[in-house]
Amino acid sequence: MLEWSMKRLAVVSHPDCLLHDMGPWHPERPERISAIMDALEKSGIAFSRLEAPLVAREALLRVHSEAYVQEIESASPESGLIQLDPDTAMNPHTLDAARRASGAVVLAVDKALSGEIDAAFCNVRPPGHHATRNRAMGFCIYNNVAVGAAHALQKLDRVAIVDFDVHHGNGTEDIFKDNDRVMMASIFQHPYYPYSGIEGRSERMVNIPLPMGSGGQALREAVEKYWIPALDAFEPQLIFFSAGFDAHVRDEMAGLLFVEEDYAWVTGKIREIAGKHSMGRMVSTLEGGYELDSLARSALAHIMELAKG
Ligand SMILES: [Zn+2]
Repeated sequence: MLEWSMKRLAVVSHPDCLLHDMGPWHPERPERISAIMDALEKSGIAFSRLEAPLVAREALLRVHSEAYVQEIESASPESGLIQLDPDTAMNPHTLDAARRASGAVVLAVDKALSGEIDAAFCNVRPPGHHATRNRAMGFCIYNNVAVGAAHALQKLDRVAIVDFDVHHGNGTEDIFKDNDRVMMASIFQHPYYPYSGIEGRSERMVNIPLPMGSGGQALREAVEKYWIPALDAFEPQLIFFSAGFDAHVRDEMAGLLFVEEDYAWVTGKIREIAGKHSMGRMVSTLEGGYELDSLARSALAHIMELAKG
């Protein structure tokens, strides 16, 4: 009989992440979190639930400037919405949601490094990968994956971030472009928002632009040809995912044509690298994904691969 070994998987979230609401017209909405949680619960997959703590200010300051953190704290409204950029707003609950979203990744790192879990999915919002050191943009306030990666570097020498969101993670690149202890591997639609990621490619910034209309075959070629050799050479001790699912064919935010099996496939490839260099440890964080059915199915496909032994 085949032994099907599973990793110890945690799903980290907090009810505050459902209270951040940028208005009924906004695609980055609270139902994204519940759609993923419903799919996870129905799947029967085994996981432990962790409540995301508020992030320590010190952890934010490893990747954001003091002035920026202060600006966000002061901007938090007592009622209504205030706009941070044309796409990104704060309501009275947003500050705590953002603190929990980054706190989730920090907690997941601690649990992975202490050996209590092998893999984690942070089911949180607001997302993070467009947030630069000094600027909120593209629905993002604090750069959650960067906060987690910088926290991990307190104990580790090298970490990698893989980002398969349809948009380039310009904030993550901004924060780590000069840090030789962090490798970033990404694919994204180009040309498309935020119109970055083309310059500055290196063996540590493995940004692969894909033209509109690219599907799973293009993803697979990019991962096999560019991501895997670079990750193998870098030997990351922990691997993060900026897990956005807005490259799905059903997601009308952009024009890539991925399906659930593509997210499962890429996660499986990264799991092999994590098994080789990172003691199997992986910490994934939700970024984009706006069509609820395909978001839930894609996230589930990704999480099931994270959990495989
Ligand atoms: Zn996106």
